[in-house]
Amino acid sequence: MQISTRPSDTQDTAAGGHAAGSGPVHPSLLGAFSSDLSAYIADIPGGDRPYRARQLFHWMHARGEREFAAMTNLPEPLRAALAERWQVEALRPVDEARSGETATRKFAFAGGDGARLEAVRIETRHRVTVCLSSQVGCGFGCGFCRTAQMGFVRHLTAAEIVDQVHWVHRLAPLPRRFNLVFMGMGEPLANYDQVIRATDLLSHPEGLAVSPRRITVSTVGLVPEILRLAKERPRVRLAVSLTAADDALRNRLIPVNRRYPLAQLLAAVQQHVRITGRRVTFEYVLLAGVNDSEEDARRLARLANQVPCKLNLIPYNPTGLSGWVRPSADQVERFARYLYPRTYAVTIRQSQGKDIFAACGQLAQPVEPRGRRARAGAGAAGA
Ligand code: SAH
Repeated sequence: MQISTRPSDTQDTAAGGHAAGSGPVHPSLLGAFSSDLSAYIADIPGGDRPYRARQLFHWMHARGEREFAAMTNLPEPLRAALAERWQVEALRPVDEARSGETATRKFAFAGGDGARLEAVRIETRHRVTVCLSSQVGCGFGCGFCRTAQMGFVRHLTAAEIVDQVHWVHRLAPLPRRFNLVFMGMGEPLANYDQVIRATDLLSHPEGLAVSPRRITVSTVGLVPEILRLAKERPRVRLAVSLTAADDALRNRLIPVNRRYPLAQLLAAVQQHVRITGRRVTFEYVLLAGVNDSEEDARRLARLANQVPCKLNLIPYNPTGLSGWVRPSADQVERFARYLYPRTYAVTIRQSQGKDIFAACGQLAQPVEPRGRRARAGAGAAGA
């Protein structure tokens, strides 16, 4: 990846580009492809050349430039006209928390309307992953998830999704190869068009060029959109939050199961695997005494063996909600041992950043870090 980082930009932007207390003021151009940009700038002096839009796209997406004035190969009148009507960024960083335990960092952003969202940068010995939000809040009501408690606030735009990646890179540079997972706030497949637009922009060869195979969309189990994703973006990876392998329990834990029960969900996932030729990942949040018995493991194995998949066990992360408990390490181990080798592949997700509420299921506003806390950008309002 070749986007440039100039630390001072953070300050300039936070101090200059925004009205106090709110996010960006002009519409962002980050959600636009070159073809859209062409149309936007066609009537501006110097903007009618066919290659101008591509230059602009390259500045924003490949180089991470935020100031039109710095786009030196664009004619001056075009740069000035752009700055009057638009801006590059869609988000403003408002807070950052660093995990004392791991290299995980959680960033909070504000959109133009002041809505808050979070992204998490997770670094292990082997890889760097950015966990992205697709909505502010979430309307699916999974009882064990903190984001669900916020309810649905709004969808994020493609520009806001893309800008999470650019901001994370500016604040904590990403290596040339990194992974993107839609496992932050929200249900990505409920915001299908903007999420797909964002993945197309992020994987564009003239932009960041993130391989779609490094992008994972995690869903609560929206059947029509799983099928649509298989047909329309077969290279993007799919993860499905299963968390229960029988309908009665899943209805209780993941209410959308009443609309798309397990038989339908499994059929859609099988279809997805058939079309894309790729394994699906099943996520399974382990809740002590709820879905972690040997009988639960047996049911899960039976279901998982009907489709090429990886099982990703996620021991419950505390959310402050009552009624849920994380199983002991022994119990997690036992559950995993029952499943492997009865199923293809089993991993236990070592959730990163629990001390700063950055782990799976812990994203919500306000940011309430318990670990060391640092502000992202001078002049930005703390949460
Ligand atoms: N809406 C999408 C993506 C967001 S959640 C989905 O449901 O897949 C990402 C993952 O975190 C999901 O697998 C979800 O089940 C899991 N999760 C939610 N709350 C959790 C918690 N408290 N502890 C551990 N994992 C949790």
